[in-house]
Amino acid sequence: MGAAAFVRLENITKRFGTFTALDRINLDIAEGEFLTIVGPSGSGKSTLIRLLVGIDDVTSGTISLDGTRIDTVPANRRPTCMVFQSLALFPHMTVGQNIEFPLKLRKMAPDARRARALELLRLLRLPESYYAKRITQCSGGERQRVALARALAFDPRIIVFDEPLSALDYRLRKTLEKELKDLHARTGKTFVYITHSLEEAMVMSDRIAIMRAGRFEQIATAEQIYSQPVSRFVASFMGEVN
Ligand code: ADP
Ligand code: MG
Repeated sequence: MGAAAFVRLENITKRFGTFTALDRINLDIAEGEFLTIVGPSGSGKSTLIRLLVGIDDVTSGTISLDGTRIDTVPANRRPTCMVFQSLALFPHMTVGQNIEFPLKLRKMAPDARRARALELLRLLRLPESYYAKRITQCSGGERQRVALARALAFDPRIIVFDEPLSALDYRLRKTLEKELKDLHARTGKTFVYITHSLEEAMVMSDRIAIMRAGRFEQIATAEQIYSQPVSRFVASFMGEVN
């Protein structure tokens, strides 16, 4: 690996009791990259990104950002954020209150919070009038956008997604895939995206990392993986797309 990785995971092992969920993982992510992680259920995808954002601790190994270790930094002080499949929006709050929530936690002044929330609504192409709307009045796609706006609120450098679209119907998924790709291009942020849909991975990402039983089987562009799979496992996994 080269010297100047943006995010570097080195020799990461994660054990739960005697079970090894991640086994000496190495991964470099470039700044602004859209990296997708795919792999069978239980292969360690969620565990890996939980370590990256700091929801859980590594058993051994290091995570660094711009050459500085972040694996010892608490989650709320890492420049990362996570978007879950469940979105985890607060249904009793307005759109504006939801977006401002992380800013309030960080003690930003009300006027500044509101200005930032309105700016994010514009970025996500939601009308300003949505600021006062209740979450319960928003459609599924709009809720996705609100969740994204909230994730971007404190300007994280890395946004991590754990299967954000898998509960949605096909048409909405296709629309949001496009929007996410577009958002990635417009913000230039680093996206780490988990999906179990290889098709989704192929259309969205710069690189795809294929996980198998706590290790990376192959990390490469969709085209490279497709034309030069390193193993039968990868080949059969790719075969599922057709
Ligand atoms: P994926 O997201 O790829 O489906 P996970 O990262 O959620 O997989 O899980 C990887 C493995 O680690 C699974 O076998 C899972 O049962 C196990 N695991 C995950 N979290 C815990 C935990 N908190 N305690 C014990 N085992 C866990
Ligand atoms: Mg998972």
